[in-house]
Amino acid sequence: MFKIVNSRKYISDLEVLRAWTKENGFIYPSSEIYGGFSAVYDYGHLGYLLKENIKRNWEKSVVHSRNDMVLLDSAIFMHPKTWHASGHVSNFSDILIENKKTNIRYRADHVVEDWLSKKTDQELEYFCTKTAKKNIQEMIKKRDLDKSTPEEIYEVMKITDFPDLENFTKPRTFSLMIKTNLGITDGTIDNDNAVFPRAETCQGIYLNFKNVLQTYRLKIPFGIAQTGKAFRNEIIARQFIFRTREFEQMEMQYFLHPNDMNSKFEEWKNLRLDWYVNELGISPSNLRLKKHEKLAHYASQAFDIEYKFESLSGYKELEGIHARGDWDLSSHSKMSGENMEYYDQQRNEKYIPHVLETSVGLNRCVMMLIEENLYEEEFINNEKDKNTAIDKRIVLKIKKNLAPIQVAILPLSKKPELIHKTLEIQQQLRNRFITSYDETGSIGKRYRRQDEIGTPYCVTVDFDSLEDNCITIRNRDDMTQIRVPISEIQSYLMFD
Ligand code: ATP
Repeated sequence: MFKIVNSRKYISDLEVLRAWTKENGFIYPSSEIYGGFSAVYDYGHLGYLLKENIKRNWEKSVVHSRNDMVLLDSAIFMHPKTWHASGHVSNFSDILIENKKTNIRYRADHVVEDWLSKKTDQELEYFCTKTAKKNIQEMIKKRDLDKSTPEEIYEVMKITDFPDLENFTKPRTFSLMIKTNLGITDGTIDNDNAVFPRAETCQGIYLNFKNVLQTYRLKIPFGIAQTGKAFRNEIIARQFIFRTREFEQMEMQYFLHPNDMNSKFEEWKNLRLDWYVNELGISPSNLRLKKHEKLAHYASQAFDIEYKFESLSGYKELEGIHARGDWDLSSHSKMSGENMEYYDQQRNEKYIPHVLETSVGLNRCVMMLIEENLYEEEFINNEKDKNTAIDKRIVLKIKKNLAPIQVAILPLSKKPELIHKTLEIQQQLRNRFITSYDETGSIGKRYRRQDEIGTPYCVTVDFDSLEDNCITIRNRDDMTQIRVPISEIQSYLMFD
């Protein structure tokens, strides 16, 4: 029996995470042979499988476990008017400042908030005496510059003695939309005919609202869900996969009567929070709900679900839950001329449905799951004598049904008859499980490799297997081993 004597989280900062994900084939920097490409990442075999498992799990929870949801896979490109109607072309921007010496760009609100977080309450009180403007005083006191204008941020910087201010450009807006052209012949960008790779997946849902409603004969309340890529011209490109210029979202838009918004909002907020705990296995103490104090003009309430990222020094957003009123469907109705009203038979009332949105970042979930579950452990083998040395392993204790590889199949040695038997067993298990085969290195090293990538079970075939038709199943979490008949392997492989 093995006894774990010490266990601690492995990810201490972003660099450790970045190195681990690359070394273990989960995530690679994009275009590395050309020196890399800022804020874009590629997913290897294991990273891809993990991402797909999260996506499937989300889909099961949000769509397949209910009768009021359907899926959609809309295109990345939409009519450019979509982004005018949604307000993205005029409003979807962050505020940029740039260090003139280093040419490093920053999101102005974030660096100034960081600066204010280092100040004591008394210091902030003092800064507030330097201005009579209530809005500026509020920003300073609350250390919150969300939705502030470039001018307001600049004023806060001046009042609070922001260091090295003269070496920064003045804050200015920076559009997050990526622009391109379709069908051009000479490669020059024609701004008047620009198209935008989608900045969020939900716009495709609004554009298809009527199609889906009619073809699936749905009644309000119902929801449309979709997963897929989104593209943003992000300013900050130094947070690994937390903030990238190409990323994946899992979004759900729930259409309802305005009177039902409050009760449904509570319901979805709880459902979504439960998903992280019950389905992804995240400790509730690492999650929190953050209420938006400043709301978009059309929104009635908004919350973020945040995770305490050790690598990013604190709580950061994973998901937004928003009550968006009828703004989306109304704007598209105005811009397109299409009537988006719904006739509610039960209420005998015509109205534009209101939208409740839940929007998760898939890549951020990958990052969270690795951070939450990767442990460095020390253990001893109790069966050996007491002087036995302490052994070490790195283990990804991810929920078994989310593990990229479910079962590793290992021959004890490279003898052809063992390899033959092992591959035969793998073939049987392939129908139900994602498996991998490994014959290189000592069996101990191979167990360590599988522990590190989170494989819940190893099936080891030894010379006795050729005689007694039994194999050994090793469990990742407690390292216990049991010998079972080959014909019964599947009943021992439990996935939560
Ligand atoms: P943030 O405040 O972090 O920029 P946001 O509020 O702009 O995020 P939303 O527009 O609400 O984000 O998008 C929904 C989700 O999509 C976010 O909660 C996040 O998980 C994910 N997401 C948004 N932008 C990015 C990005 N650049 N890279 C990775 N994931 C992202």
